[in-house]
Amino acid sequence: MATIAFIGLGNMGNPMAANLVKAGYAVQGFDLVPENLTIAKEHGVTVMANAVAAVKDADVVITMLPAGKHVLSVYEDIAPKAKKGALLIDSSTIDVESARKAHAIAARHGLPSIDAPVSGGTGGATAGTLTFMAGGGAAGQAAKICNNMILGISMIGVAEAFVLAEKLGLSHQALFDVASTSSGQCWSLTTYCPVPGPVPASPANRDYKPGFAAALMLKDLKLSQEAAQSAGAVTPLGAEATQLYALFNAQGNAGADFSGIINFLRGDQT
Ligand code: NAD
Repeated sequence: MATIAFIGLGNMGNPMAANLVKAGYAVQGFDLVPENLTIAKEHGVTVMANAVAAVKDADVVITMLPAGKHVLSVYEDIAPKAKKGALLIDSSTIDVESARKAHAIAARHGLPSIDAPVSGGTGGATAGTLTFMAGGGAAGQAAKICNNMILGISMIGVAEAFVLAEKLGLSHQALFDVASTSSGQCWSLTTYCPVPGPVPASPANRDYKPGFAAALMLKDLKLSQEAAQSAGAVTPLGAEATQLYALFNAQGNAGADFSGIINFLRGDQT
């Protein structure tokens, strides 16, 4: 079985690495946060002292990092030290320009690389059901940015519907039961419901602990707007969602799950 280096063992990386261990791979992991290394160790990951040590003898290197600058800095460190022919897979969500630079760094050292961002959230990472948008040449990042613009807009739409239902005296469960089997059905409602109760696994049931942090949603929406501007696409709802998440983040919610925007829309102090 191949040896896999896994760099970035956060909310997504840790359950992904755990599934690779379960599938029988030897996984060598590294993260800057000691608590994340402890969790990784409990899942059978061999914890390494740094990223360079993690890639030693690895056939595949997976990165799951916050943003483009983290990926580029790790790639500059590891690419000169990786095993000849090792495949670099970046599953972080990053801007297209950084993805292209990451490919260039890998190519400079003769390493094959692919951008393969994922969709499915921490639930999908734990269940092993993530969708990988493996593009190569940064195409995966383009698909991911479009997908997450839909997600940011649809979460606000679902949250607004629950806030309206509250004002109209309709219970959360009643709205969920109807909309989840009607034309309002979407992932933000049925997998990631922003109110506690209808979907027990959603972050709303644990006081909006991420999950997918609002800071990362804002990052993705900004990427979508940069891409829209440079490509000449008109995305007014994407722009509005970006503004709303910027306000939500500015009120001290960057570390909360992005579905917590319902509290902001309701006017609650969070
Ligand atoms: P996270 O902040 O929980 O995890 C990122 C980890 O990277 C952190 O543990 C951090 O310590 C580590 N890190 C940062 N710099 C590092 C370095 N130089 N070396 C080693 N480790 C380093 O974030 P997350 O929610 O796991 O998301 C990771 C990526 O996946 C992001 O790009 C995000 O946009 C994307 N994503 C997240 C979700 C989700 O639901 N959380 C879903 C799809 C995609």
